Amino acid sequence: MSTEAFLGALKEAVPDPRCELNYRNPFELLIATQLSAQSTDVMVNKVTPSLFQRWPDARALAAAELPAVEEILRPTGFFRNKAKHAVETAAILLRDHDGQVPRTVEELIKLPGVARKTANVVLGTAFGIPSGITVDTHAHRVSLRWGWHREKQPEKVEKILMERVPKEEWIAFGHRLVLHGRYTCLAREPACGRCSLRELCPVGRGEPDPYRSGGADVTPRRVTKKDAGSTLIAPPTSPEPGPAPRKAEGPASPRGGAGKGRR
Ligand code: SF4
Repeated sequence: MSTEAFLGALKEAVPDPRCELNYRNPFELLIATQLSAQSTDVMVNKVTPSLFQRWPDARALAAAELPAVEEILRPTGFFRNKAKHAVETAAILLRDHDGQVPRTVEELIKLPGVARKTANVVLGTAFGIPSGITVDTHAHRVSLRWGWHREKQPEKVEKILMERVPKEEWIAFGHRLVLHGRYTCLAREPACGRCSLRELCPVGRGEPDPYRSGGADVTPRRVTKKDAGSTLIAPPTSPEPGPAPRKAEGPASPRGGAGKGRR
């Protein structure tokens, strides 16, 4: 099936591609995306109002007392690391970028807890810069079921997606893939019966599900230390760690909706 057919059906399935993290500016989106690792957008959206009310910018957060930040971030899981990364990130933004969020992947991935995935989310969502395609556990799973790859490393999956999808579509496509996996192409039980991609998708046509088969060659790798401050890549059979199980065409609307799915 042609890439165009998949893209068209995906647009039909997800007409409103967007990031479900609430934010008012690039700084808030960067921190919120870091916090979404091993958590949910819903949970992150619950804690960020308190966080940004108390420490609204990089200067304020860089001067924050770590225990106070930890306490606010506690519900998101891995809160000590997340608090440390957030405060360190704010300090680096203040020291090296005049308190602003840099606009390149190279500069973003120098920040603690920021891997390429988080950089893509921030650049695409906050600035409308198509730096790549966000490959979280949802994007990995959906594209795997489509038969677009048999890779377990998100970096390799991203490269394949970037080669297939026109660059002008990268940002919206990334959001759509994540949202489709979050709400329709579910890990345990994909809702093929109501999926507009059913005629295109091998799994939808009744072929074995490579995701559920647990093949070692396609099982997404575990979260790395660097990814831990970014969106998730988790193996399909792992229990959801942290708290309640739970990342974004052009710059998305600030303070938007509240997603439930894990990143
Ligand atoms: S047809 Fe089923 S497996 Fe394929 S994308 Fe849709 S929900 Fe996922």
